[in-house]
Amino acid sequence: MAETKGKRMKVIIIGAGPAGLSCGYELVKAGVEVEVYEASPYVGGMARSFDLWGQRVDMGPHRFFSKEKHINEFFTTLVKDDYTLVNRMTRIYYRNRFFYYPIKLFNVLRNLPPFTIVSILWEFLRIQMFPYKNPTTFEEWVSNRFGRKLFEIFFKHYSEKLWGIPCSKIDADWAAQRIKSLSLWEAVISAIFGNKGNKHKTLLDQFAYPNLGTGTLYERAADFIRSHGGKVNLQSPVKKVMQDAGSGMQDAGCGMQDAGSGMQDAGSGMQDAGCGITGIELMDGTVVKADYVVSTMPLTLLVKGLKDVPADVAAAAEKLYFRNTILVYLEVDSMELFADNWIYVHSPEVKHGRITNFRNWSRQINRDKKTTILCMEFWAFDEDEIWKDKDENIAELAKKEIHLLKLVPPETKILNTFVLKVPRCYPVYETGYQVNLKKVENYLDTVPSLIPIGRYGAFKYNNQDHSILMGILAADKITQGLDTDLWKINTDVEYQEEARIKDVLIQ
Ligand SMILES: Cc1cc2nc3c(=O)[nH]c(=O)nc-3n(C[C@H](O)[C@H](O)[C@H](O)COP(=O)(O)OP(=O)(O)OC[C@H]3O[C@@H](n4cnc5c(N)ncnc54)[C@H](O)[C@@H]3O)c2cc1C
Repeated sequence: MAETKGKRMKVIIIGAGPAGLSCGYELVKAGVEVEVYEASPYVGGMARSFDLWGQRVDMGPHRFFSKEKHINEFFTTLVKDDYTLVNRMTRIYYRNRFFYYPIKLFNVLRNLPPFTIVSILWEFLRIQMFPYKNPTTFEEWVSNRFGRKLFEIFFKHYSEKLWGIPCSKIDADWAAQRIKSLSLWEAVISAIFGNKGNKHKTLLDQFAYPNLGTGTLYERAADFIRSHGGKVNLQSPVKKVMQDAGSGMQDAGCGMQDAGSGMQDAGSGMQDAGCGITGIELMDGTVVKADYVVSTMPLTLLVKGLKDVPADVAAAAEKLYFRNTILVYLEVDSMELFADNWIYVHSPEVKHGRITNFRNWSRQINRDKKTTILCMEFWAFDEDEIWKDKDENIAELAKKEIHLLKLVPPETKILNTFVLKVPRCYPVYETGYQVNLKKVENYLDTVPSLIPIGRYGAFKYNNQDHSILMGILAADKITQGLDTDLWKINTDVEYQEEARIKDVLIQ
């Protein structure tokens, strides 16, 4: 059993999303006392599933994939065999045409006029001769690999809708994390010679999807924590992390390694008592004590709530910002709209950027209903008109756009609409953001017993698997005293999708 100074160690986790719950799951297994505090009435965070019009839906598309053993063990132990292997089908919609994604060369050649193809080849050869040296922006990174023309067709419009800033201001980190380091040469070679001899499905072709929605994983993790003596408190928003009396020193905050004090912080076992984490304060004023706090609340808000934060760190945190998502669900009176799990909508003439079709995930989420639920994604900043607009106006816009794309025929009825606004969905990787983030990371590393993880918790553009890994490693850090640098997760690029699904998941 994990102990500090003879008593059972207690950890508070802020947020019941994938990061918080995977951490709680590992900690209760190790005998740690765990209390999770979640602001909303649900578990699962952005990866929750919920009932809508008699069916199950997720918050947009949620494809789970990883080749990392611990992450897959977390999935298989909790979901068991209640999952469907879904054959992935995703396409890009651009100027009234569909392009397979990942891109297939012959499909591209068939869909584009000859002069555009010549222009693609010309631009590709040109960039081979004169590449951007040390590409730092998304635009430069993608252009170096695919050429300027392909960048414009397949990357520019979607990315600018998503991030709300020009591609010349989006950091290359995003591309490096999300786009396979495939170049046009490799695409051509693979199109001509194919994947000969390899009959196995990879994580690119198929993914495991819990039968009742991606959120099943997190509902079960919460049940596991409760059944092992932990608490998962819902509708319990945390105001701030509590600290002992400050050191009075302005240059390193409360967590300063104040070697001179020689005191011990009861919980953390690190020097500099007096200045460590003591627990949390909830919005209703309740104070809860703990030895460690694992935070998945937005990093920017976490820093705002800490005391004695040096001015330059506070200023750096202020410069980090997020992009919001608006999800518009449509219930359509049809069962046969299109075969994709989701479609990326690059066409610049519409505002939305992605459409999920929940008819094409697992049979169970549709619950024998004869209608199809689509989910359209719009992205916005707080100050944008669409973010401030009424739900009924946003729903009308969505209906207009889905008809414009002819993805729902005009004679087919749209029976219901539901608008869900999700703040702080995407940490914006604007060029230079790492300088500010690094300053915040370095400062938080000086605060003993506080572990920030998660998508907005660590300001990393995480998928579920990254957040789960952060949760697992945070737990190991606490129980085994490891010195793992959790900020590094989801920064080293390792391409996951070429792994064979049978090697990583199916037992
Ligand atoms: C539209 C969309 C599509 C996506 N598609 C995929 C996909 O295909 N595949 C994939 O793997 N991932 C996908 N993701 C990403 C995935 O949802 C996230 O990576 C994952 O949910 C992050 O988990 P987290 O625990 O870090 O954060 P979150 O899920 O955001 O959880 C954080 C939790 O903390 C709570 N919280 C915040 N502040 C406080 C507070 N002050 N007090 C208490 N609680 C607080 C929140 O309510 C939330 O429940 C998608 C996300 C979106 C939005």
